[in-house]
Amino acid sequence: MNISYISYTQLVTYLRCGRWYQFKYVDKIALPTPSGIVLGRAVHAGIETNYKHKLETGEDLPIDSLLDAYNDSFEETALEVDVWELPKEREKDLGYKLLKAYHPKISKTVKPILVEEEEWINDPELKLNVIVKKDVETKDSIIDIKTISRLPETIPFDYELQLAMYSLYTGKRKVQLHALGKKHLKAKVLHKEFNDEELSSFREVLKQAVRGIRAGVFLPTGVNHKWACAFCEYGKLGLCEFWREK
Ligand code: SF4
Repeated sequence: MNISYISYTQLVTYLRCGRWYQFKYVDKIALPTPSGIVLGRAVHAGIETNYKHKLETGEDLPIDSLLDAYNDSFEETALEVDVWELPKEREKDLGYKLLKAYHPKISKTVKPILVEEEEWINDPELKLNVIVKKDVETKDSIIDIKTISRLPETIPFDYELQLAMYSLYTGKRKVQLHALGKKHLKAKVLHKEFNDEELSSFREVLKQAVRGIRAGVFLPTGVNHKWACAFCEYGKLGLCEFWREK
């Protein structure tokens, strides 16, 4: 299979399960919008509104402006959802609480120089473009913002992979994960500075994945992880012959 670009989402999908990648990016089988992404996308919209304003004025917005942006995004994405895992209003309320936990404590520590920028960076050795979607960039760091269930002690592997990709292609070694935890309704900042060894190890992972995709190797590796098949909609819809309930 020929590919001329790769994003973090494509890479992490391939590493999670080759068959999953094949369903999504080769066969292009679209799935219904899961209710779980509505809150995360809307929280992101609230925070993004603040940092875009700060980029222009140097000032943070009042919390009400973030909550308005959150509300608009939530209602817009909610139109795409047929089935809610949690009642919609309960889910929406969680997002308000998360923004109130994040904004007063963390926004004031960030001085953005770029917000929500997507760059396509050519990699001549891999003969493709790498898509770098930065949530926020500061003078010395790349920041990614995630809404997750529980706040971790260190940056989880999936997110570290994303930050390594962006670090490698932007040259910024320092990264931050701004994590908003739904379970305890708290927010925290996790820091990391990549060294040469970590970035060259990540590059090898990327090279091998690109080689596998180009060779059409789509192994059902999800069966090896307890969680992968359990969260895989292709499996739940009966499209994957390897899916089994765990
Ligand atoms: S059901 Fe399991 S093996 Fe099949 S695509 Fe999904 S994660 Fe991969």
